[in-house]
Order: sequence, then C-alpha cells, then structure tokens
Amino acid sequence: MKNIVRMIISLLLLNTLGFSQDNKENNPFFTEYTTPFKVPPFDKIDTSHYIPAFMRGIAEQQAEVDVITNTKEAASFENTILAYDRSGEILTKVGNVFYSLNSANTNEAMQNIARKISPLITQHRDNLSLNDKLFQRIKAVYLSREKSNLDNDQKRVVEKYYDDFVRNGADLNEADKTKLREINQQLSAASLGFGENLLAETNTNFKLIIDNKADLSGLPDEAVNAAAETAKKSGNEGKWIFTLQKPSMLPFLQYAQNRSLREKLYTGYLMRGNNNDKYDNKALILKIANLRSERAKLLGYSTYAEYVISNNMAKTPEKVYDLLQKILEPAQKAAEKDKNEMQQIIAKEGGKFNMESWDWWYYAEKLKKEKYDLEESEVKPYFALENVKQGMFYVAKKLYDISFTKLANVPVYNPEVEAFEVKDKAGAHIGVLYMDYHPRSGKRVGAWCGSFRDQSYENGKRITPVVTIVTNFTRASGDTPALLTWDESNTLFHEFGHALAAIFTDGKYNRTAGDLARDMVELPSQFMENYAGQPEVLNVYAKHYKTGEPIPSELQKKLQKSLIFNEGFVTVEYIAASILDLDWHSFKSPQNVDVLKFESESMAKIKLMKEILPRYRTTYFNHIIGGYAAGYYVYLWAAVLDSDAFQAFLDSGNIFNKEIANRYRKYILTEGGNDDGMIQYAKFRGKEPTLEPLLRKRGLN
Ligand SMILES: [Zn+2]
Repeated sequence: MKNIVRMIISLLLLNTLGFSQDNKENNPFFTEYTTPFKVPPFDKIDTSHYIPAFMRGIAEQQAEVDVITNTKEAASFENTILAYDRSGEILTKVGNVFYSLNSANTNEAMQNIARKISPLITQHRDNLSLNDKLFQRIKAVYLSREKSNLDNDQKRVVEKYYDDFVRNGADLNEADKTKLREINQQLSAASLGFGENLLAETNTNFKLIIDNKADLSGLPDEAVNAAAETAKKSGNEGKWIFTLQKPSMLPFLQYAQNRSLREKLYTGYLMRGNNNDKYDNKALILKIANLRSERAKLLGYSTYAEYVISNNMAKTPEKVYDLLQKILEPAQKAAEKDKNEMQQIIAKEGGKFNMESWDWWYYAEKLKKEKYDLEESEVKPYFALENVKQGMFYVAKKLYDISFTKLANVPVYNPEVEAFEVKDKAGAHIGVLYMDYHPRSGKRVGAWCGSFRDQSYENGKRITPVVTIVTNFTRASGDTPALLTWDESNTLFHEFGHALAAIFTDGKYNRTAGDLARDMVELPSQFMENYAGQPEVLNVYAKHYKTGEPIPSELQKKLQKSLIFNEGFVTVEYIAASILDLDWHSFKSPQNVDVLKFESESMAKIKLMKEILPRYRTTYFNHIIGGYAAGYYVYLWAAVLDSDAFQAFLDSGNIFNKEIANRYRKYILTEGGNDDGMIQYAKFRGKEPTLEPLLRKRGLN
C-alpha cells in the first residue's frame, strides 16, 4: 500500500516539474545494485538517470514522512525516530554518487543537473526541518525518552534529531519563528555580499605591476613566468603582474629581494575589504556579528560562539579560549626565537631595519636554508605514489590486521581510478576503497575523502561502506613514476585516515553512526599523519624509485628537523585568527563597535607580537562567514587529540601496539558517534588529552 502511494506521488511530482520518466525501467538507482559488493554500477549510470532519481527520492522521502505524521498511533521510537532515520533511501543513494562525481569527474551536463537540483533539495530539506507535525512527534518521543525503555544508542538518536530541529528554531513560537526567518534571510544576503566583495578585492582591485626586470631579482623562474603570463593575459605584454592570490603572492613574499615591493604587495593583501570603497566589508561583518548574536539569543544561547560550540566536543567557548591561550604562549616564544635569528640575518646582510610582518616569509626562507639545507628534489624520489600507498596499507595492517586487495572486476567512473577490497583479519569483507589520484579537467582541486555508500543496517544486517579518496598529485612522466612531495605524502595518509574511520564505522542508526563533532572529525585523519614520518614506517615504504634503496637516515633526520621549522609562526597566526573569530561571535547583544578598533583590541588582549598578523584579518576572514563561524579553532583542537592519541603508542614503546590500536579502533573509529566526543576519547585513552604531546611535536616546548 505504502509503495503505491509513493509511486503515485512521485509520478505526479515528475509531471508537474516537467521531467520525463525516461529510464524508469532501467534506472540503476531504482533497483538494488547487482555489481560485486554492490558498488555503484558506474558503467550503467547515465547522466539522464540523475534527475528522475532525485525527483523520485524526494517524493518518496516526503511520502515516508507523511506516513509518520499521519499515523493515528502515539509517537514511538519505532514509528517516528526509526522511520525518519530510515527514510530517503533513494535520495541518499543517488546523492552519494552524484555529488561525489560532480566533484571528481564533472562536466557541463553534471553541472547543469546540480544547478537544477540544488534549489529543489534545499526546498525539500526545509520542508522536512520546518515540518511542525514531524517535530511534535519527535518532541513527544524526546520528552518520554527516559521512561520508554530505550537503550543508550536509541536515546542518543532521539536527542540528536530533537536537537537538530530545535537548533533550527522548530520549538519557537510563531512570532519568533518569523523573526528567525528574517534574520536568516538578512544573514544570507550579508554573507553573499561579503564574499563578493572579497572576490573583487582579491582578483581585480589590486595588482602589483612590475616593468623593471631588476625588481624581479631573487624570484624563481616559475614565479617570473607565471607573472609574465598574467600580464600578457591582461594586455600588459612585457611586464609582470603579481596578484593577491596565494600562488602568485607567496613566492613573491618568499623570494623577492625588493623589500618595498614586498611591503606593497602584502599591504594590498592585508587591506582587502578595508579600503573604504564599495567593496568595504566593515559594515557587513558588524551586521553579520550582530545578526548572529540575535539568532543565538532567540535560540536560547547567550552568544553565537556558545550556540556553535555547545554542539562540539569542546562544549563551551571558555574551553576553547583556554586551549588557544595555553598554546599561544609557547608558540609566541618559539616565533620570537625565530624572529631574533632572522634579525641576525638582516644584520649580517648589512640591513639597518627591524623585521616587519611583510619580511617574515623572505627571512624564514633564508633561515630554513641556513639551518636545514633541504631541497624538495632530494626527497621526492623516495616518495613514489605507489610506495606511499603501500606504506599506508602497511600501517593499517600492522595496526588493525586489515588487508587491501586490488579489484579488477568492479566498475569505475574513470579508467584512472583504482578500487580495493578491504578485508579483516579473518578475510571477511569489510568495505571497498576507491582511489583517484591525478588532476583532470572535471576534477575539483584539493584532496578529500567521500563515500559512495555509508555503512548502514538493513533488517539487522550491516551493509558495508564504499569509500573514495580523491587527490590531485602530479602524474608519472616518461620513465619517472608519480613522485609526491613530503606534504603530498602526508595528504594521502590524512585522507586514508578519514577513509579508515568510514570503513570501521559501525552504528545501527544513520543519524549517529560515524557522527564525529566538528572539532573531532580531523582526529582520525591527522592521527594517521603521525605514522608517515616514523623511521620504522619510512624504512618500509620510502624507497628510491630507481634503486629501491630506503631513504638514508641522514636525509630522514633532516626531513624530521625541517618539519618543526617555522611552527611558531604558523601556530601563532592560526591562533590569532581563531581568537578573532571567537571574539566576533561573543556578542551578548547587538553592538555598535568600530571594526578596526575591535580587531586591534582583540589582538592586544592576547599580546600578539607585532611581526605576526592573524592568518586572516576581519575584513577578509571568509571562513567565519561560511561554515567555520566560531569554528576556525577545530583543526588545532583535533591536533591536540591526534598528538595525545599517538603519544599513547609512543609511551608503550611500540607505535603498532595492538591493544591500544584495538581500543582506538573501537572507541574512536567504530563507535565515535555513539556518545559525546570527550567521553569516547576518554574511553579510548583512559583520561582526557593533554597539550604536551602537541607542543613537543611542533617543537614548542
Ligand atoms: Zn581532513
């Protein structure tokens, strides 16, 4: 009966939207995949399948929710929470494939579909999250959760769904709901404006045009050529143009001998959104901070930071401030020490000036040469992609007794993609891992880990996950295999860490399985990075691609030492920005502050050294306009966790200690979403994390 209702609704919806029902019979999203391990049948999926699948997915989930809200029975865990948790199967199925491929293997047709489907998905999500009948039933289950004989996992799911709705304003009265909608609208308009201003300020409003070749001295050829190319494109052939985009700006700050031009370029960067013209962001950031403070108030929190962080592992802004302060002090000491050494270089070269913020990259480069004399080209031959991959498989085997076998018989979405079957110690299948390494047109930049199917439960049986890692590493050329830089090797270990978390996740409910808080998500990934540079691991995988010789211990030592170079600066500028973020989100009520004065007072309060500025200043801090509001700190929080977690292995004298690895796998990777982050962490570690391991790792102790 339910199926017939769904079908009718989905057909009606398709017709009203003018989409045809093409491929209804053979749309792979409508039937169970028949491929090995039920991976998506990429060879059978056609772009024409997506829209009908999205439409049917939306209609089916809406019908499922209607069944929940129309039932006459009193709300229970089964008929409300579980039913909602299980709803939207087709939508999830098609969404997982579509959004993964739209990032890794897109084209115009895919992008058109994304544009068409995106407003419909937003509308559908709003229809669910603003559905008062649904919320009232969830609330009823929530209020009776203590006396309903629910187990801990069930209680957690109930609380999570209830929170989701409440945090969106579902429990407000009508007048406040209207107010909230107005705030949301104003916020999204202000955020959009902020981003557009920043784009104009970064890409068009400032250019450093050089017409005297002598002003290029010190710069590597690549940077000079790129600047000549930029000039040529804008009709300035024969000149050189540097912009405020990092790939153009950073080499100039690192290498250009002309100090006043470095100052000019860096000042252009620092003044983005702060030039008192039509692209100025000062009024907008103040408006955003005030709107957010109103929003938080409306939802029952004293500040926006409290609203955001209450959902995280840290729980309160005070805890985050405290952590940042504690790391800032030693980090500033380390940065001061580096600064003094750089000042000595200036003196040695006959300079009669004090280090300024725009000098940092230039003298850091010189200091690095003086201290470590390590060239990327010396290291790269030891990091062939294939070897790094075998290295991380080796680590996974030593820690968790799992193995990776290349699959020849599964469909892939691009011939370059590899797939591996993941098996546990006893040889049982636990998941499939796809890997897609090299840049292509149609692939977005960067590196990420996603999934074509998350683990889930069906009739009590666990459905195994299908996970994907996508990177943009330079490909092989001629006789030389793809060689990674040290950073890229770490990136692969990092994404592999996310992948292991997805593969090991085991939870009955979709809402909570694998649901790590924002400030904990990077624990599994950053944890794996600890292994990439361990001598025991390097000796296994870092072999010269020609000779097969393992990386010499001299080079290993140089590499290890160079890793902590400049960590003082990196940590200080990151913490300064994190504090600035928190301060902007700590208004207890709307305020009329002078934006620049607010910023300088915020930095004076932490006694920020004058040679380092926050990594992002207020008027171009785009992260906190988007998803990182009151959350720029999360990487450092997770870094404390990953260092402390790895310290457990170091303390045991065995980085592959099985007993510790089992606990880590169980409480963090498998059951990480089952309870609050700190509780799960303490179950693994036997105590809360400490800062010392991180400070030691970064050379800040
Ligand atoms: Zn990550």
